[in-house]
Amino acid sequence: MTTQVRLDALLELQSIDMQIAELAKRRDEIPPRRAEVVHDITALETEKRERGEAVERARLDRRGREGELETETGRRERYERQLNDVKTNVAYSALLTEIQGAKRRIGEIEEEILALMERREEHEKRLAEIASDLAGKRSAAAAELKSLTAEEADLEGRLVERRASREAVAAEVDDRFLQLYDRLRRGNRFPALVPLRGQACGACHGRLPPQIVREITHDGTLHPCEGCGVLVYAEPVSGGRPADAD
Ligand SMILES: [Zn+2]
Repeated sequence: MTTQVRLDALLELQSIDMQIAELAKRRDEIPPRRAEVVHDITALETEKRERGEAVERARLDRRGREGELETETGRRERYERQLNDVKTNVAYSALLTEIQGAKRRIGEIEEEILALMERREEHEKRLAEIASDLAGKRSAAAAELKSLTAEEADLEGRLVERRASREAVAAEVDDRFLQLYDRLRRGNRFPALVPLRGQACGACHGRLPPQIVREITHDGTLHPCEGCGVLVYAEPVSGGRPADAD
C-alpha cells in the first residue's frame, strides 16, 4: 500500500470528524435537557391541580358536616325542651341518654370540621408556595429554554459549517484511503488514523514488521495494523516531514 497519500488532508479530515462528533453529541443532549427543564413545571402544575381539587372536596365535606351539626344541635335542643314535660323517671333518663348521644355526636362532627379546616389550610399553604415556585420556575425556564434554543441553533450552524469543510477536505483525499478511513470510522474504529509509536501501533501497541515501519516513516504512507485494523501513520517531525526511521 504505497499509493501517494495526502496524510495531512486525511488527518485534517479525522480532526474535523472528531469536531463533528462532539458538536452532534452536544446538539443531541439538548432535547433531554429541554424536557428536564419543563419536567419540574409539569410536576408542579399537576400538584397544583390535585391540591385545588382537594381544597374543593374539603369545602364540600365541611358544608355536609355543618348540615349534620345543625341537625344534631336541633335534636339536642328538642330533647332539652322535652325534659320539662316528662312525667316519669324512666322517660327522663331515656331523654338524658338521647341528649348525651347528641352531644357526643356534635363533638365528633366539630372535630371532623376542625380537621377539614386544617387540611384545607395545609393545601392552601402549599398552593401559595406552588404559585410562587411556578412563577419563578416559569421565568427561569423561559430564559433557559431560550438559551437552549440559541445553543441548539449555534451547534446546528457549526455542524453545517464543519460538514462543508469535511466535504472540501475529503475531496483532497485519495478515494481508496477515504473509503478505508470511512469504513473504520463507521465501524466505530475511531480514531481510525493512529500514529506509529516506535515500531508499534499507537492503538493496540502491536509491533509492525520492519518493512512496513520503513514504508510508513520513509514514504509517509499509511498501513492498516494487523492487530486492530486502524491505519497507522508516522507523525510529522517538527519540520513537517514524516519521521525517518533510517
Ligand atoms: Zn493496532
